[in-house]
Amino acid sequence: MIILVVNAGSSTLKCQLIDMDNEECLMKSNAERIYGPGTFMNVTFLPSKNKEHFEMEGASHADCLSKLLETIFASDECPVNSIEDIAGAGNRIVSGGEYFDRSALVTDDTLEKVKICGELAPLHNPHAAACIEALREVAPNLPQVLVFDTAFHIAGLPEKAYRYALPEKYYSEYKIRRYGAHGTSHKYAAEKAAEVLGKNVEDLNIITCHLGSGGSVSAVEGGRCIDTTMGLTPLEGILMGTRTGSMDPAIVTFIMRRDNCTLDEMDDLMNKKSGLLAISGISNDMRELEEGAIAGNEKCRLALDMYNRSVQKAIGSFYAIMPRTDAVVVTAGIGENSEFTRREIFEGLEHMGMIVDPEKNKGRGGDRVISADDSPVKVLIISADEEMCIARETMALI
Ligand code: ADP
Repeated sequence: MIILVVNAGSSTLKCQLIDMDNEECLMKSNAERIYGPGTFMNVTFLPSKNKEHFEMEGASHADCLSKLLETIFASDECPVNSIEDIAGAGNRIVSGGEYFDRSALVTDDTLEKVKICGELAPLHNPHAAACIEALREVAPNLPQVLVFDTAFHIAGLPEKAYRYALPEKYYSEYKIRRYGAHGTSHKYAAEKAAEVLGKNVEDLNIITCHLGSGGSVSAVEGGRCIDTTMGLTPLEGILMGTRTGSMDPAIVTFIMRRDNCTLDEMDDLMNKKSGLLAISGISNDMRELEEGAIAGNEKCRLALDMYNRSVQKAIGSFYAIMPRTDAVVVTAGIGENSEFTRREIFEGLEHMGMIVDPEKNKGRGGDRVISADDSPVKVLIISADEEMCIARETMALI
């Protein structure tokens, strides 16, 4: 059974074809700079790694998706020759608002709700909806599934975790609440960690840390997410590549008054010009910052210190609200690959019983325990595979 996974970003479209009989990826595609300038798409067939490159100036998400299908059907090495060879499509949806606490099949009703939630994810939901509609047009009978970044948090967070201390109308009318993000990743990280530890996730309390360009930390109690650092939008929480993370909200009005800047300029400043990039002054790429810090660059050192502290504080706050913490899991680009940052974060957490073994911490990726045998709290790396999680959810629903 072959599943197509569709992940529409603000100006990107990433797709995969996955053969679910053996969970093998048959094709990966990546379209960038959608709407231009410089729109292109790369389609890579596996296992050969044969690649096709298309310049598609100004193309939309839907244009890229139709070109991708055409390319797949025409390729000799891919077992998919027509839409009938695809069993279903799984669509990553950034926001399902309060409507969805789990994945759902695409229907007129659910698709309409995805569009309504565009208010909460204006850079993502409309593009995902456009891809779903484009697929529906060429394949009206193809079952499609919606897999939400928010569902894991919506299902688990109690009101005391998701409400902001604002007057009632901002929640009841404006729907301002904590929705969280990276839900698929937090859920997978917790479940996989339980599997690695040989326990049921229902019997464990786990703090999951998704540390990529964007990042969030969640408290997963007995398999349910009871709190998370991202909020109404992915700006809240730990310091990120180009985002501020949490800060005094009064800073926003202060800067806007002082610089007389527009809403869009302020949005841009907080989302694209802040975080590690702003503090280091050179990059939002953790690899470059680590190299810089090792070479003695003080701004890089400060960026890392601030990053580590924000992650430590998030872990500490969730340790405080769970009755017991059995494990801490790190995942995504930084969590999986950076021995350096993992070491620095956990060196500051030994007093909470999170003791990382320097030997086990070496290397990248894998699903493995990196804490010392006698560490009261286990620390694990789990490799994120968002596309595979979406494909599994899709299979389960169709
Ligand atoms: P996203 O999917 O949100 O773009 P990723 O999960 O791919 O992000 O993570 C990207 C981050 O991971 C970047 O900051 C990058 O520098 C970092 N990263 C990737 N490989 C390494 C590595 N070997 N050492 C340190 N950081 C790494």
